[in-house]
Amino acid sequence: MQFEGVERPLRAVERAIPEPGPGQLLIRVQACGVCRTDLHLLDGEVEIARPPRILGHQIVGTVERRGAGGEDPLRAGEREPGEQPRRVGVPWLGWTCGECVYCLSGRENLCPNARFTGCDIDGGFAEYALADERYCFELPESYPSEQAAPLLCAGLIGYRALRMCGDARSIGLYGFGAAAHILAQVCRVGGEVADGMPERRVFAFTRAGDAAAQSFALELGAEWAGAAGEQPPEPLEAAIVFAPAGELVPAALRALAPGGVVVCGGIHMSDIPSFPYSILWQERSVRSVANLTRRDGEEMLALAPKVPVRTHVTVYPLERANEALADLRAGRFTGAAVLVP
Ligand SMILES: [Zn+2]
Ligand SMILES: [Zn+2]
Repeated sequence: MQFEGVERPLRAVERAIPEPGPGQLLIRVQACGVCRTDLHLLDGEVEIARPPRILGHQIVGTVERRGAGGEDPLRAGEREPGEQPRRVGVPWLGWTCGECVYCLSGRENLCPNARFTGCDIDGGFAEYALADERYCFELPESYPSEQAAPLLCAGLIGYRALRMCGDARSIGLYGFGAAAHILAQVCRVGGEVADGMPERRVFAFTRAGDAAAQSFALELGAEWAGAAGEQPPEPLEAAIVFAPAGELVPAALRALAPGGVVVCGGIHMSDIPSFPYSILWQERSVRSVANLTRRDGEEMLALAPKVPVRTHVTVYPLERANEALADLRAGRFTGAAVLVP
């Protein structure tokens, strides 16, 4: 399902199966998650420099073949007869330069030369995809492919955002979609299970009147759910804003206790309206979270089965990708959408 231009539907096209180059895997896609970022790409809010492009950056699939000239040339080529196909996950971070100040300081998520899956590199809204093996993840075996796919962006970016909340014991989640439904489950565990993170209380903020999302949040362990403009029952130690609406930033600041942080988890957001300094005063802060590092991925994918995180997915056949995107935009499902070829 190919992106050909801003505000145009994805189009079903037949393409040749791509040839893996050195270090690349040819992956037969089993499932690919749909992300809010895909809507930003479709709308031109995040630019695709060189269309046509295949979107999709939460790919789960099996390795069909490995390009020659990788780190281990002996493993190049076809699988041995009888060998089990290896399953991998491919995230948004598709390639980094390894040489810049960010790559060299453990912040490859900020690499200015990075290439992103489903944006700069063809992604997983397809039957086959190529990926640089160094950026692929092993996936916990306990997850069927459809359930694993949303972990690869909603889960990983959510996890990075949660890390930015430090030791906050009460967290507001603004926008209860794919990422929040995973995080709410992670927040409820603490200590050894959660890599030393504290157990946290969750307060869910949804669109006004979205009873389905609010009851979904309560089912997943949130202790309170309300509309995004509402004040929570007590000031919160942190808030993560997943919805791409700038007016939620001052709303979240107003919900914070002194010293609290608002973390903006999306790649794009409408303009943030001006607000009085008094709601930032008392050492409150606002920050964003960008992309992921491979370390985030390894940590979250190890943590998910221990929680255990259960992803709620709505599965669409690949050729109905446009319907899945429209349903995401309209908030017609809870949890995450996944495309299956
Ligand atoms: Zn994403
Ligand atoms: Zn770099």
